Amino acid sequence: CRQRAAGKKKKSSAKVTITETAETTETFEDVTATADVPGRPLGREAQETASDRVYHWVGKSPEFGSKCFESLQRYFPDAMPAKVVHNRSRFVLEQEFGFEPGSTLLGSSFCPDEINNQGRDLPVVMRDYYGSVFPMGGLGGVPYVGETGFAAFSSHVADEGHILVAFGPHVGITEDGEVGKVLRKGQCCNSAACGAVTGAYGACCAGWTDSAGGDESGYDLQMDYIKRWVSPHVEAISRAENPMAALTHKSYEMVKDSMFASVNTNFGSGYLCLLGGITLNLGEKYPDHFFPLTFELRREGHETIDLLHEMRQLR
Ligand SMILES: [Zn+2]
Repeated sequence: CRQRAAGKKKKSSAKVTITETAETTETFEDVTATADVPGRPLGREAQETASDRVYHWVGKSPEFGSKCFESLQRYFPDAMPAKVVHNRSRFVLEQEFGFEPGSTLLGSSFCPDEINNQGRDLPVVMRDYYGSVFPMGGLGGVPYVGETGFAAFSSHVADEGHILVAFGPHVGITEDGEVGKVLRKGQCCNSAACGAVTGAYGACCAGWTDSAGGDESGYDLQMDYIKRWVSPHVEAISRAENPMAALTHKSYEMVKDSMFASVNTNFGSGYLCLLGGITLNLGEKYPDHFFPLTFELRREGHETIDLLHEMRQLR
């Protein structure tokens, strides 16, 4: 039986056709603020909503009461099948802000792991809908193309058109509820997901430091970036109730900060929509879920419009 301490591949699959709905009591801020605090009382994982039942009936989400459901909703409350997030975001953008698929340029920043690029996954569903995509991401979902890459990408937007960028890290959850691992197609054992982020965390726990491990002779630029970013947070993460969940929430900040540092609104008169969150890989049995953390519109000369509440209403 194979073991992969810091695997770099994964898989899941399926097909989705869901619209929206959901409920909850805990806010996204509550969870991200407390995901690293041990002893947190029962939360969303102890509540079964109508949406949970529907998603399970149609084969899109794990059953309420299962270990997978408990980990999914405890650490990423109200995470939804990825296609539901896509449907909701396009409904809001098209109905309220005049987006049209034909004049919207799509960018993405997700980890290249193949389990994020299967039929029901957010990057694929969005690419199919918008027609093409400019992938900005590398290991861990970090937009390594940076400011130059975004400038090139954004210069391709249609006249008067809009830009939509979806981004974020990913993490596996096994059938037994283990966060940070996933069962890949054709394999008998669970392996790491995200292998890059968990591998960086493991290296730091084993003593890697920027100075001690800064061997520039090899070619591993993206992994080096993640290790440098994770290193200062390792001690706090290791004390969390679930270090892998805490690590994932922390890695969202890594991706978001890099994305926010890369983008601008100088490309024209249209909107820049940023849709960020954490992808949950649930293996072959269920489609990826998505935990939205950023959904906002920017426009040159205008105030940023926060639309995250539109995702919270899916309850
Ligand atoms: Zn990954």
